[in-house]
Amino acid sequence: MTALTLRSLSVVLGGAQILDGVSGSVEAGEWVTVIGPNGAGKSTLLRAVAGLVPRQGVLEIGGDEGGTLARRELARRVALVPQLPSLPPQMTVAEYVLLGRTPHLGYLGREGVHDLEVADAALVRLDLVGLASRRLGTLSGGERQRAVLARALAQEAPILLLDEPTNALDVGRGQQALELVDALRREGGLTVLAAMHDLTLAGQYADRLLLLDAGRIVAAGGVRDVLTDELIARHYGASVRVLHEEGGVVVVPARRIGHTQ
Ligand code: ADP
Ligand code: MG
Repeated sequence: MTALTLRSLSVVLGGAQILDGVSGSVEAGEWVTVIGPNGAGKSTLLRAVAGLVPRQGVLEIGGDEGGTLARRELARRVALVPQLPSLPPQMTVAEYVLLGRTPHLGYLGREGVHDLEVADAALVRLDLVGLASRRLGTLSGGERQRAVLARALAQEAPILLLDEPTNALDVGRGQQALELVDALRREGGLTVLAAMHDLTLAGQYADRLLLLDAGRIVAAGGVRDVLTDELIARHYGASVRVLHEEGGVVVVPARRIGHTQ
């Protein structure tokens, strides 16, 4: 089953063409990661899928045109972990994670026992129990990022959009967060569309990669097809070596021999 279908998706913001005819699909249970240099349009692509920016072209979510879904229904199907979330500083971590349940609440807007259980489970999974009563404004960058991920998990949407999910996390926390998402994907058939600038992590966790440059998909396919020295050099202006290790690919910067100081 196809979870997401994009056909000729375009986004214009402030008079500039940010996405230009992006097409592709993500199967249910698949993990697809969008890579590309700064400003390529990765965040805009995720925001378009989440219905946060106006777009042209076709976007199907679980077989329905995204534009026909009410906001609440969209939020039941798609959860976004934004790159730069704005968090109400006075709210506690527990209150914030519980907000993830909003699209599931009844007309009175009251959380039931099940909602509290789901939010608690998300706190446990992100190792946030000890921080549950802390105000968001007092958290470190990494703690904030885990709280945002916990809120998205509490939303229990079958499609998870992750925008630079490991940005503020150290190597251990980052790995744990990605492993957790991967475990949920294996257990529960979660579908993941991520944007990542760390090419090594991108390659280690995705089934497929989309390489975006200047709003267009310039390469798509398996990790070995997209993470090549040539493509990275061309689209990032970087000299790298892609090493194929047992645990997955490793992309390392490699200074050209013969450089002058
Ligand atoms: P990425 O996530 O790949 O770094 P973004 O999707 O955040 O890239 O941004 C792509 C381009 O779109 C950038 O050049 C950015 O400045 C521009 N952009 C993003 N939002 C707006 C906006 N609201 N108005 C005008 N330009 C925007
Ligand atoms: Mg971005």
